[in-house]
Amino acid sequence: MQFSEFKLNKQLLEAISYMGFEKATPIQEQAIPEILAEHDLIACAQTGTGKTAAYILPILEKLMQSPTHETNTLIIVPTRELAIQVEQQIQGFSYFTPVSSLSIYGGGDGSEWQQQKRSLSQGTNIIVATPGKLIAHLGFSYVDFSNVKHLILDEADRMLDIGFYDDIMKIISHLPSKRQTLMFSATMPGKIRKMAAEIMHTPSEITLEIAKPAEGVLQAAYILHEGQKAVLLRNLIQDKPDLKSILVFSSTKRKVTDIVNTLKGNGYTVRGISSDLDQKDREEVLLNFRAKKTRVLVATDVLSRGIDIKDINLVVNYDVPQDAEDYVHRVGRTARAETTGVALTFITSADKRKFDRIEALIGKEVQKIPLPGYLKDIPYSKEKNSRNRSSWKQNSKNPFRGRKK
Ligand code: AMP
Repeated sequence: MQFSEFKLNKQLLEAISYMGFEKATPIQEQAIPEILAEHDLIACAQTGTGKTAAYILPILEKLMQSPTHETNTLIIVPTRELAIQVEQQIQGFSYFTPVSSLSIYGGGDGSEWQQQKRSLSQGTNIIVATPGKLIAHLGFSYVDFSNVKHLILDEADRMLDIGFYDDIMKIISHLPSKRQTLMFSATMPGKIRKMAAEIMHTPSEITLEIAKPAEGVLQAAYILHEGQKAVLLRNLIQDKPDLKSILVFSSTKRKVTDIVNTLKGNGYTVRGISSDLDQKDREEVLLNFRAKKTRVLVATDVLSRGIDIKDINLVVNYDVPQDAEDYVHRVGRTARAETTGVALTFITSADKRKFDRIEALIGKEVQKIPLPGYLKDIPYSKEKNSRNRSSWKQNSKNPFRGRKK
C-alpha cells in the first residue's frame, strides 16, 4: 500500500519519500486509518515493524489539520534510547512542518532540565518521555497537559516489566480523560490487557504475527556450563576479522563488566553498555557501535528491544534471555534489510526450559553445535548461577536428548 492512499498532507508525504519509505508496512497499513479515525488502539507489534511511524504519521497529520502551540501529544516510552530514537523519527517526518517536539528523559544535567522546563511551560506539540523524568516535572505547576489529545504508550509490556505501572497511572491522572489512547506492545500479557481496560475506551485491536527471525539469520546454540562461556566467546570472536559488528547480550550488569574485561586486550575494540552508564556515555557507546568504530558491544537487555541498530554480523546470547520474545528481538538485530547474520546462544543446563520455550515460539529447533575440544578441560566447578547443577552431565554429547517439546 502506498502512503499517498492514506490521504496524508503533502509535506508529510514529502518527508516520507525523503526518508526513503516506499510502501507502508503491515502495522502502518492497519494502524494509520484507525488512528486517523480517532479510535483508541491496542497494537501488538515489535520494533522493526515500522510501529513508530505507524503512530507518528497520523498524529502529525492531525496536527497539520489543526495546528496549535499547546502540548497535543504525549508519548511515553520505557528507555532513554527509545525516547531519542522516537523523537528523531518525529523530527524527520515533521521536517517540512511547523510541529514542535521534545524528548524528556533522565540523566541530563541542570541545563537540560531548564530547557525541558521551558518547553513544557511554553507548550511543545509532541513530548516523548520516560516516566521517571516526566513525573519529576509534573511535580511543578508549569506543566500544562490540559490540552493533550493523544496519549501513546510505546513498548507498554517493557514498561510494566520495569515496574512503571504506578508512574504511568500517575502521569495519566494529569491528562484529560477525553483523549485518544494508543498502546503499542511486543507482547500482550494479562497485565497489559488489564491496564488497557483501565485507560482506554473500546479500543480497536491489531495483532501482527510475532516476527520469526529473518530467513537470513543462521541460528545455532552451544550447550555448555558457565565456566566455559568466556573462553568460547573469546575464541568465536578471535581470528574472524570479517565480523565487523558483534553484539553480546548478558543477563546482568556485573556480567557485562566481566565479559568486557575478558575480551579487552585482544586487539579489537570492545565496550559495555548497561543502565550503570550515564546518559552521555550510553549515547557515545551506541554512536561508536553504530559507526562501526566499536567492534564488540556487550549489553544487558536494555538494548535488545527498541533500539534500531542495523547490520550486525553476529549476535551472541551469552545468557539465554528470560522472555522468549526477547530472543526474537535480539536475533532480530542481525540480518536486517536482507543481509545475513549469525545468532549464537550459550545454553547451560539451568536454561534448558527457557530455551525450549524459545524454540516453541519460533517454531523450530535451533541447531546445537558440538563444543570445540579446547573447552573440555575447563572444570565444571566454575559454573555459577546454575540452579540445576545436579542434572548436568559433563560428558553427555547432548544433554537435551530425549527432552519433551
Ligand atoms: P520501528 O519498528 O518503528 O522501530 O522501525 C524500524 C525501522 O524501519 C526504522 O529504521 C524505520 O525508519 C524503518 N521504517 C519504518 N517504516 C518503514 C517503511 N514504510 N518503509 C521502510 N522503512 C521503514
